[in-house]
Amino acid sequence: MIKRLFKSLKPTHLFSIVLISFLIFQSEDREFHLFILLLFFTLIFLETLWSQNTSNIVFANRNVKTIVKSFSDFIFSNQLTLQLKQEKFKSIFDKSSDAYFILDSKFRINVYNDKVTTFFGQLKEVLFNEWISRNSPDSQPYGGESKKLFKAMVNSVQRQGEIRFEWEFKGKSGDQIPTEVSIITLPISETVFYFVVVRNVLNQKKIEDELRKNLEREKELNEMRSKFISMASHEFKTPLATILANLELVELKLEKQGVSLDQFGIQKYVQRMENESTRLNILMDEVLQLGKIEAGRTPYSPDLIHIEKFITDYLNEYIDKTHTTREIQLNFDIKCDSFWLDTDLIHHVFDNLMSNAIKYSNDEVIVNVKVDESSFLFEVIDKGLGIPLNEFSQLFESFFRASNTNHIPGTGLGLVIAKEFVEIHGGVIVCESEENKGSTFRVAIPSK
Ligand code: ADP
Repeated sequence: MIKRLFKSLKPTHLFSIVLISFLIFQSEDREFHLFILLLFFTLIFLETLWSQNTSNIVFANRNVKTIVKSFSDFIFSNQLTLQLKQEKFKSIFDKSSDAYFILDSKFRINVYNDKVTTFFGQLKEVLFNEWISRNSPDSQPYGGESKKLFKAMVNSVQRQGEIRFEWEFKGKSGDQIPTEVSIITLPISETVFYFVVVRNVLNQKKIEDELRKNLEREKELNEMRSKFISMASHEFKTPLATILANLELVELKLEKQGVSLDQFGIQKYVQRMENESTRLNILMDEVLQLGKIEAGRTPYSPDLIHIEKFITDYLNEYIDKTHTTREIQLNFDIKCDSFWLDTDLIHHVFDNLMSNAIKYSNDEVIVNVKVDESSFLFEVIDKGLGIPLNEFSQLFESFFRASNTNHIPGTGLGLVIAKEFVEIHGGVIVCESEENKGSTFRVAIPSK
C-alpha cells in the first residue's frame, strides 16, 4: 500500500510536500503545519484507495461502458495510448453489427455489447454456457445435442486457442437465428480471456438457399435440354440416314438400268438433296457431341501413341475419305516418339482444323508437328480467307460463322468441340489470323 501510495504521488504532490515542510521548519506554529501535512497525506491515501477501487473489473457488468481500467491495463501500458485504444475498442464494440462477449477463464461473462440484448433479449446468466443453453434449440440442424456440441467446442478452443463454427440460436420471439460463432483466446498477462463473436448469417443463408435452388433448377433445365437435344438429334439422324441411303439406291437402280440422272436433267437436284442431307447429318453429330460434352459424358481414354505413325496414317485416311486434291505439307520435329493421347478425340480436332483449312483456302495447307518429353504441339496453317479482326473474339463461340465465310457451308460448332477435346487433354488451342492472308491454328497438349 505504502509503495502504491508513493507511486501515485504526482509532481504537484511532491512540490506541495516540499513547500509545507519548508513552512513547518520556518514557522512557529509547527503543530498546525504538521497537522496540515498529515491531512495532505491522508487525502493522497484516500485518492489512491479510490482509484484502486474503480479500476477493478465489475464482474458481469451489463454495460460495455464499464470496460474498466485494470483489464485494459493488462493490454496497454501507456496511459494516453490506453485511453485512445479503449475508446476505439469501445466504439467498435458498441457499433458492431455482431454480438460480442468477453469471458474470463471460467467462461463467465465479463462484458457484452448491446447487440446481445437486441438479438436475444435481456441477459440473465453469468455463465456463458448457461446463456448458450437458454438461447439455443435442443439440437443443432447439422445434428447433435446443443449442450454436448458446445462442450466439445469449448474443449477445442481450450486446446487450439481459436474456433469458428455454425450455430443456430433461438431468437427473442422463438425464431431461429443461424449464426457463425468465433471464439478467440486472449492470453493477457497470466490470465486467459475469451473473445466471442456471434454473427447473424440469416440473410447470407437466405441468399445461399436462393442460389442453391436456382442452381438446382438450372441443372435440371440443362439436363432436360441435353436429353431433349440428344433425343431430337437421334430422331433426326435415322430419317436422314434413310433419305441418304434411298438417294443412293435410286442412283444405283437407274445406273443398273443404264439410265443416268443427267438424262432427266435431275442430277443437280439429287446432288443438292445429298449435300443438304449430309450437312444436316454433320450438324446433328456435332449437336449430339456438344450435348455429351455439356453433360460431362465425353469418354476420355488416352493411349500411348506413336506420333509419327499416327499422324501419317491419319492424313492418308483423311485424303482418301475426303478425296481432296489439295497439297498438304507435313513437317515433323520429333524428340520423343510416343505421347499419351485419346485418338478418337484428337481425330475430331484434326478433322475440324484440316477441313476448315481446306474449306476456307485454295492453297496448300501446312501441318507442323513437334513432340518432346513435355508436350505435343501441332499447327495447321492455311493461306486463305482469314478471320475479320472485329469478329475474332467470337471465334470459339457456339454457332459463330465469320461474315466472310457465309457463302461456304458450315455449322459454327466444329471449333467449340475441338477446343473442348483439347482441354480434356489439359491443353490449349489458339489461333492467329489475318483477313485475306490466312490462319494458323495451334494446339499444345502437355504430357500426362
Ligand atoms: P464451321 O467451319 O462448320 O462453320 P467451325 O466452328 O469449325 O465451324 O468454325 C467457325 C467459323 O470460324 C467458321 O465458320 C469460319 O468463319 C471461321 N474459321 C474457322 N477456321 C477458319 C479458317 N481456317 N480460315 C478462315 N475462317 C475460319
